[in-house]
Amino acid sequence: MDYIDPHIHMVSRTTDDYETLAKMGCVAMSEPAFWAGFDRGSVESFRDYFRQLTDFEPKRAAQYGIRHYTWLCINAKEAENVSLSREVIAMIPEFLDAPNVLGIGEIGLNKNTRNEATIFLEHVELAVKYNQQILIHTPHLEDKYQGTRMILDMLTQDSRIDPSRVLVDHVEEHTIREVLDRGFWAGMTMYPISKCTPQRAADMIETYGTERLMANSAGDWGPSKPTAIPDLILELKQRGHSRDLIEKVVYQNPNQFFQQSQKWKSIAN
Ligand SMILES: [Zn+2]
Repeated sequence: MDYIDPHIHMVSRTTDDYETLAKMGCVAMSEPAFWAGFDRGSVESFRDYFRQLTDFEPKRAAQYGIRHYTWLCINAKEAENVSLSREVIAMIPEFLDAPNVLGIGEIGLNKNTRNEATIFLEHVELAVKYNQQILIHTPHLEDKYQGTRMILDMLTQDSRIDPSRVLVDHVEEHTIREVLDRGFWAGMTMYPISKCTPQRAADMIETYGTERLMANSAGDWGPSKPTAIPDLILELKQRGHSRDLIEKVVYQNPNQFFQQSQKWKSIAN
């Protein structure tokens, strides 16, 4: 079955992974900018990273017939360095016209600090100024509930933000309802050791339905599984769900959300 991975960090993966994903049915992917595992030292290092995301990765993906899209930002983990964050935010517009850039992301909170909130709001300003969609990272474990509430409040209080143009990722059982109720799109991240499993994602689909809901692997440099979406497809098939339901979650929904950008080429059309 053809599917789209709406959140995966291919800069951390090998070309063999592209081949495997293509064989498993992945036809398109979106790669938000994220933390490298260490703090980058200068704005130049982000400029090179954004060149990799807008130039090198789409070519690598195209070798396997996969369409590669991206989102730009400085990650919340690096927001404590406020001056570097501001330099990066000021540099991002250089890349916003690149043909595979869908918007600003993954922005959000990590430890829910004041500096993180400041830099989050400055990214939101950038998105509004350039009419960009937004992809949100919500924090992990004990910080998730409060951080998700803070993010949703900041976005909802800004009347310029249209929630149907915002994807909130890494939702879990205790955050998904509020994200959907407030009109945002929600993404479930399936990780081998944290976040959510294919089984829990299937449970959430059964509980909350398929409207504005999608699933991703968030495959990156840590313990993660780039083929998590095929695992979810199998889980849903084994539970007896229809092809239409599965296709809505893994293909139609991301296609519909991303289509709001002129740059996204609908694969079905
Ligand atoms: Zn991510």
